[in-house]
Amino acid sequence: MRKYLFITLLTLFALSCGTPAAAAGESLTAADLPVETVTQPAVKNESPKSATTSTTMLYVSATMHIESQPDSWPKDVDAFLAFIQQLTDAGVRLSIGADVGWLTGGLRVQEIIQRTSAMGVQWDVHAHKQSDRAKAAYLLAKYGATPTSVISGMQISEFDKARKPSSYKGYTWTPKVVWGGVACIGHRPGCDDTSIVLYRPTSSAKYTVHDPKGNIVRVGNTDHQLATAESLLAQIEAGAYSVPMLSFTIMIEPETLLIVNSDDGLTEILAFVEQVKENPNLRFATIEETAQAWVAAGSVPIQIP
Ligand SMILES: [Zn+2]
Repeated sequence: MRKYLFITLLTLFALSCGTPAAAAGESLTAADLPVETVTQPAVKNESPKSATTSTTMLYVSATMHIESQPDSWPKDVDAFLAFIQQLTDAGVRLSIGADVGWLTGGLRVQEIIQRTSAMGVQWDVHAHKQSDRAKAAYLLAKYGATPTSVISGMQISEFDKARKPSSYKGYTWTPKVVWGGVACIGHRPGCDDTSIVLYRPTSSAKYTVHDPKGNIVRVGNTDHQLATAESLLAQIEAGAYSVPMLSFTIMIEPETLLIVNSDDGLTEILAFVEQVKENPNLRFATIEETAQAWVAAGSVPIQIP
């Protein structure tokens, strides 16, 4: 696998979730937001192996998108909640992006948002229209969740607009992270992001060029497959990387509770967790927590196609 490493000056930008204060109609700027420390409840740092192995860390996040169309909604809410409880109990850090169709018309939406939030799940902003992003964030706040600063999915051509704060009914949402930027729609070959990257895109036109002053951290999408995470860990252990961290995301379909493009479900994910949980090179972190960790690690641009 080719590696590109661009060392730049350290740029420390405070990454933070949107806060409930914004629901009162305040527009928040980065300077107003508290600096969050990265929280990694499932992390085990004390392994004696860490002294002798590579210092590259694999950050593993998990996510799902609940679309506006009912065919992507959880089929059985109780089974959905039980699935998420087992994942989070195992230490997987999950975030969910939900589009406005489900947020306004889904079944037991408020209950799902509140109960999963209590399990430690984060709610990202996933919408297919720029004008719906602030609305999705507003609805999440209305239902009792604090939306993250993650644009979870967008077209790269939207980036110049999507990177700016946007408002709905006086609620202002300020993005700081992008995950899943696609070159074209329809999940056709060449459209979806399969990279392992952490950097700040310059613009829609120069999306792959790192801008140390950029306001958005891009977290790579990967191909979501457990076998890829296992092979990345093996490569890290073999000393293949000199960068501080790599990012990997397990993506799960809410209607099937399977990893996209696979037959892997809860059993396989829990087996993976069991296999890797003592590995000193792996941390479970949400997409937003991965971006925060990248900033804390010095914002070294990492671009692995
Ligand atoms: Zn979608």
